[in-house]
Amino acid sequence: MFPRRCVVCGDRADALCERCRRALTRLAAPRCERCGAPTSWPVERCRECSGRRIAFATARAAVAYDEVAKRLVAAWKERGLRTLAALAGQLVAEGVPRPTAYTVAYVPADENRRLERGHNPAERLAVELGERWELPVVRLLARTPGIRPQRGLTLAERRRNVRGVFRATTDAPTRLVLVDDVYTSGATVSAAASALRKAGARRVEVVTFARAVR
Ligand SMILES: [Zn+2]
Ligand SMILES: [Zn+2]
Repeated sequence: MFPRRCVVCGDRADALCERCRRALTRLAAPRCERCGAPTSWPVERCRECSGRRIAFATARAAVAYDEVAKRLVAAWKERGLRTLAALAGQLVAEGVPRPTAYTVAYVPADENRRLERGHNPAERLAVELGERWELPVVRLLARTPGIRPQRGLTLAERRRNVRGVFRATTDAPTRLVLVDDVYTSGATVSAAASALRKAGARRVEVVTFARAVR
C-alpha cells in the first residue's frame, strides 16, 4: 500500500514529494513556552493561552497546520497510510526536542471514528515517536463516544464539548508525553491532560505533528 503520488500535489512521489515536504512550515523558536505558539520573542504565556486554565505543562508541534499540512493530515487520517505516520514521526523527531518524560500516552480516538478509519492517527504517531525516543507507549485514556466533532465550534464550545470526555483507565506515571495529531485550540489535549492529572500525572508534555497558527 505505497502511494505512488504525492498526497499534497499529486505529483509522482512516494507519499510526499520533496517540494511539498519543503513547503511545510516548520515551527521553531521563538515561541510561547507554555502552548508553543510562534511569537516574536520568547514568552512564558502568550495571548492565545494566558488567562486560560491549561492542564498540560508544555505543547510543541513540528509544523504549522496550514494548507499543505492540512492535506497531508487529511490523507494520513482518511487513508491510514503508514508511510505518512512514519513521516510525521520523523518530522516531529527533527523539530521537537526529546521530552523529559519516560512514558508516551496518546489521545484516544472516538471509537466510531477509529472503527470507520481502522486506525487512530494519534496512536500511530505515538508508536512512531516511542520508537524514535526509545520510550514505552501506553494506553491510559478512554474516551466517551459520540461527542460532536470539534470542527466548526468556537473555543468556548470546544472546551465545553470535550469536558469530561476523557478518563484514565489506570494510574498514570508522574511524567508523561501526550501525543495527538493536530493541536487546534488546545481544548482536546488539555481535557486529556486533565484526566491524566486526576490519575496521578504531575507533568504532561503535549506533542503534536501540526499546530494551528493564528
Ligand atoms: Zn507534492
Ligand atoms: Zn501560549
